[in-house]
Amino acid sequence: MPNIAIIGGGIAGASIAYHLSKNADHSVEVYERGKLAGETTSKSAAVFGHYGNATEVKMKRYGAELYNKFFLESDRELYFNLVGRLLCSTTKEGAESLSGKNVGNRGPVDEKEGEEDETVPNKERMILEDPVSYIAKGELKGKMGIVPYLDDSKIMGSLYQPNVGFLEPVGMAKEFVDRAEKHGARFHEYSEVNEIVKKGNEIEGLVVNGEFKKFEGVVCAAGPWNPPMARSAGIELPVTHTMAPILVMEMPNPMKVVLPLFQNIESRVYVIGRDRKTVYIGAYGESAKEYNPGEINDEVPVELREKMLQFATEFFPILKKAKVVKEWVGIRSGVSDGVPIVGWTEVKGFAIAAFDSSGIQLAPAVGDIISKQIIEGDQTELYENVSITRFEGHKDVKWSLGN
Ligand SMILES: Cc1cc2nc3c(=O)[nH]c(=O)nc-3n(C[C@H](O)[C@H](O)[C@H](O)COP(=O)(O)OP(=O)(O)OC[C@H]3O[C@@H](n4cnc5c(N)ncnc54)[C@H](O)[C@@H]3O)c2cc1C
Repeated sequence: MPNIAIIGGGIAGASIAYHLSKNADHSVEVYERGKLAGETTSKSAAVFGHYGNATEVKMKRYGAELYNKFFLESDRELYFNLVGRLLCSTTKEGAESLSGKNVGNRGPVDEKEGEEDETVPNKERMILEDPVSYIAKGELKGKMGIVPYLDDSKIMGSLYQPNVGFLEPVGMAKEFVDRAEKHGARFHEYSEVNEIVKKGNEIEGLVVNGEFKKFEGVVCAAGPWNPPMARSAGIELPVTHTMAPILVMEMPNPMKVVLPLFQNIESRVYVIGRDRKTVYIGAYGESAKEYNPGEINDEVPVELREKMLQFATEFFPILKKAKVVKEWVGIRSGVSDGVPIVGWTEVKGFAIAAFDSSGIQLAPAVGDIISKQIIEGDQTELYENVSITRFEGHKDVKWSLGN
């Protein structure tokens, strides 16, 4: 019976463990250097909705199906709150672009139909799955529904997608853990992988907390720490990182409605109501600078913090009454073409799960793809889109361990 190790006990590692243990009799060991789901997964805004590029949207469909099943079957306190997503522009050009439903993954309009970004090979166009409506200037409050606190005076146009909400990310990850454990997978907290050991171009095992352990297969799901881990196996991952800050605002009294997910494509800041009293303010893309995951500090830098607060109170003046009660800085992993890197690598026995953010939504599909490759040798229909081989200088070895 082959042994498989997973590095990282976030939502990706947990989903991979679930899919591998459910579909084969291998022994599956997950090594997490801290607490399960204690890093990026616990810091996530955990929005779920069918937007992104075509590959992501396909992967999200698998995720939605699996999460629907979990909600029906689980005894855990899982939740999904539907709040809707409003993507707005404060410029005429931005509004025009939105009216053609031309959107970036997390908001910015970064490409036009027919125009290709030559610096990024195979960059996939961003899409929003229906239902989605364009709302012209001045029509928001009538067409979108009940958004009494929104000051829409500067909004030139918006896209509204009602079927978007947020999950409780740690609960979803723990649900994968429970299920994987039922199928025999074992999770080891406070177990740091120090080294990936190879013999020639093949995995031999791992050094965990200073002790060598033999494995036939290793899956790297170390979130923002994937690059140094993969490097220790001889692979330079084409992944970068930006800061993903959150300010948690609390109102003195509950508001009368929960705020929607509200994003502005120019400032790259967003607001999302978690309940009638609590609101997250987040930032992404150019609002945050390139970031070294080794330098985690949970204080949001002063300038960015001011920008985030100004944005939130400009569009939702009621938030002037709110106080920042908590804040943190997570790390957003990025892949240049906006699609995750999943599966086989050039080292036999070594697979990778690296997101372009959106990991809460994509973790189910990532687990499915990796388990199909490792157990059945099935490259899957998304291979061309998610394989590391789409990047110059990268190849892979197609390996599998059978059932
Ligand atoms: C502020 C913010 C907002 C976000 N919003 C969304 C959103 O709305 N929707 C969405 O889908 N996604 C969102 N994301 C992204 C999403 O949260 C991540 O893509 C996802 O959580 C990544 O999961 P992971 O398991 O890959 O990484 P992690 O949760 O970071 O797990 C990796 C684990 O590996 C462990 N590890 C690292 N090195 C080692 C080692 N050497 N040995 C053992 N263990 C190791 C770490 O301790 C960590 O627990 C957001 C992220 C942030 C920060």
